[in-house]
Amino acid sequence: MPSAYQSCTLCPRQCHANRVDGQTGYCGETDQCRIGAILPHFGEEPCISGRRGSGTFFFSGCSCGCFFCQNHQISHEHIGRLFTDEELYQSAVSLIGEGVHNLNFVTPDHWWPHLQRLCKRLRDNGFDIPFLWNSSGYSLAAAVREQCRLIDIFLPDFKFADPELAQRCMGDAHYPEIALDALKAAVDALGFLRPFDPDGDITASRGVMVRHLVLPGQKDNSLKVLDLLADHFGPSMPISVMNQFIPVPACHERHFLDNRLAQEDYAAVCRHIVELGFIHAFIQPESGDDAFMPDFTRERPFEGNPLK
Ligand code: SF4
Repeated sequence: MPSAYQSCTLCPRQCHANRVDGQTGYCGETDQCRIGAILPHFGEEPCISGRRGSGTFFFSGCSCGCFFCQNHQISHEHIGRLFTDEELYQSAVSLIGEGVHNLNFVTPDHWWPHLQRLCKRLRDNGFDIPFLWNSSGYSLAAAVREQCRLIDIFLPDFKFADPELAQRCMGDAHYPEIALDALKAAVDALGFLRPFDPDGDITASRGVMVRHLVLPGQKDNSLKVLDLLADHFGPSMPISVMNQFIPVPACHERHFLDNRLAQEDYAAVCRHIVELGFIHAFIQPESGDDAFMPDFTRERPFEGNPLK
């Protein structure tokens, strides 16, 4: 059977790059799996990180490619090293041995064939730990339907309801409708995230929660995202609305999104969460948690994670 990495159509970019032959498409990666870091991570929501951390794989490259990416060192600069299937499997087994609550695949869409093999092998060998798809939200609905046969938890971003902002940030004005279709497919397959324990005493085992990072000066986009989620999924949709944006060098080069988020804007977004009646919502009480701004050139990319 031909590899899905030949004439690649794994994401909405539909590049048809022959990644097997060393070509790269928009995501910038061949068929050799590259990873920036693998670690128990404590920077996710409490119901994901729990007490023992989320076993997180930070993949290199990205098919969404927002210029302001907080993980730009791995998404744009491709920091990371290559992993064979066997190394991926052994890394997963090692994380499970450390007691993590789930395996968390960050920016995974362009690595689906690798992850399909990994998840199948883990299940075949009796591991029942939840698999978590931690994505940009810029996914094909058909791909999501296939992924939901193996993945237990979907944690997609919903970045843009404003087509012009999407075009300016990641080059596709169709992001809102593409992300909405993908989200509907995930909710149809998996339902909402459950159990939803805001304290993290019990971690989630299945379902969908949507993340949204509020961007500086873009409050109206965030209000529209909330309206859209409430309209299509109702107030029971679990959401996590974040204020931790930190401008990266590309923001200063473009003179766009080159500030921290104004707290009054975040407060307005939080008020709208209440107005719309969302009942399962994570919000962040203070501006910017720099301890979880990663530096993938360090041995410990996240200062906020505990030392072993
Ligand atoms: S996964 Fe990469 S190569 Fe494949 S269609 Fe998407 S951006 Fe293009």
